[in-house]
Amino acid sequence: MADEKLFDLRVITPDRVFYEDKVEMVEMNTKEGAIGVYKKHVPTTCILSPGILIIHRPGGEKKKAALHGGFAEILKDKVTVLAEAAEWPEEIDLERAKKAKERAEERIQSQGGEMDVIRAEMALRRALARINAAK
Ligand code: ATP
Repeated sequence: MADEKLFDLRVITPDRVFYEDKVEMVEMNTKEGAIGVYKKHVPTTCILSPGILIIHRPGGEKKKAALHGGFAEILKDKVTVLAEAAEWPEEIDLERAKKAKERAEERIQSQGGEMDVIRAEMALRRALARINAAK
């Protein structure tokens, strides 16, 4: 892979620099749906939804992670992601995610207020992202 196709990716969470390196492409889940970003993308910002982050490294290697909301700033040669939380597959506690999923589903079923349902739906999405990323 020629260097001119690579761009800088930086993923930051409140507790660490999750990822920082040159990449060929990055896939993320935005509020409007999944996007794939290559170098020289039109500069923009987007709001992220809980989902899977797929980092395409030089040479064809792919790295997958669970990424839970936040913002992405896309510039022509640099993408910065500020995320609420992110985990590599080996960091995910699958049992915890399954329990969080059950809790969220129960809350969605129960007659809570609208805010409770929205919060439960976000918790459900985080749990599903973790379960998918851990596979
Ligand atoms: P739970 O209800 O299980 O706490 P949550 O979705 O409310 O889940 P978050 O608020 O998104 O949790 O995350 C809080 C912290 O815990 C973050 O640092 C996140 O990376 C970590 N975390 C949450 N769930 C898991 C999991 N299943 N495996 C590993 N780390 C997790």
